[in-house]
Amino acid sequence: MSLRDELEEFISRFPVYQYAFVSPEQIRFEESVVEVCRRDCPHYNTSWSCSPAVGKVSKSRARCLNYDGVLVFSTVTQLEEGASRRERLQTKAQHEKLTGIVADHMTGLGLRPYTLSSDCCTNCVRCGFPQEYCRHPDVLYPCIESNGIVMSDLLEHCRMDYYMSDDLCLWFSLIFYEDPFTPKEDRDG
Ligand code: SF4
Repeated sequence: MSLRDELEEFISRFPVYQYAFVSPEQIRFEESVVEVCRRDCPHYNTSWSCSPAVGKVSKSRARCLNYDGVLVFSTVTQLEEGASRRERLQTKAQHEKLTGIVADHMTGLGLRPYTLSSDCCTNCVRCGFPQEYCRHPDVLYPCIESNGIVMSDLLEHCRMDYYMSDDLCLWFSLIFYEDPFTPKEDRDG
C-alpha cells in the first residue's frame, strides 16, 4: 500500500468532507492575505496562532517548502441561524480534534507533520498571548491565512468547496509532511 493509500484509508474512518494531496510548490503565499487579517480579523495580534505571532510570510513559505507533500482536508459543522463569529468559532472543536488525530497518525508513520488549521486557536478560554508562552504548543495549529496562504487558489486547484451555505461552516486543515517512502517523481499534486 502506498503512503497516500494508507493516509486515505485512515482519514476515510472520520467525517472528513473533502480532501486532496498537493505538493507545497502548488501553494501560493501572499503578504496581502495577512494584510486582510490585520485589517479585518478581530483575532489579529491576540493569539499565538495568528499574525503577527506566527512570523513573516517569507519564513512560513520557506518552512512549508521544506516538506514533500500536503494533505488538505475539510470538515463541516452546522451553525445556528444568525450565529455570531464567536459561536461559529466554537464549532471548530471537532475539526481541531480530528486534525490532531490525523497529525498524530502521521507522526506515528514518521512523516514529521507540520499542521496549519482554520482561524484562531480556541484551546484556551483566554489565550496567554502575549504575556505567557503558549500553554499547549503540541496542539497549537497556526492559522492558515496568517501564514499568507491563498486558500481560494488552493481549493480551486484541489477542486474543493470554499463555501457551502450560511448555516454550514467549512473548516480546513493543511498538514505538511515529509515522505521518505515515495519516489519524488511519483509525488504528483
Ligand atoms: S493553546 Fe492556548 S495559549 Fe496556545 S495559542 Fe491556543 S489559546 Fe493561545
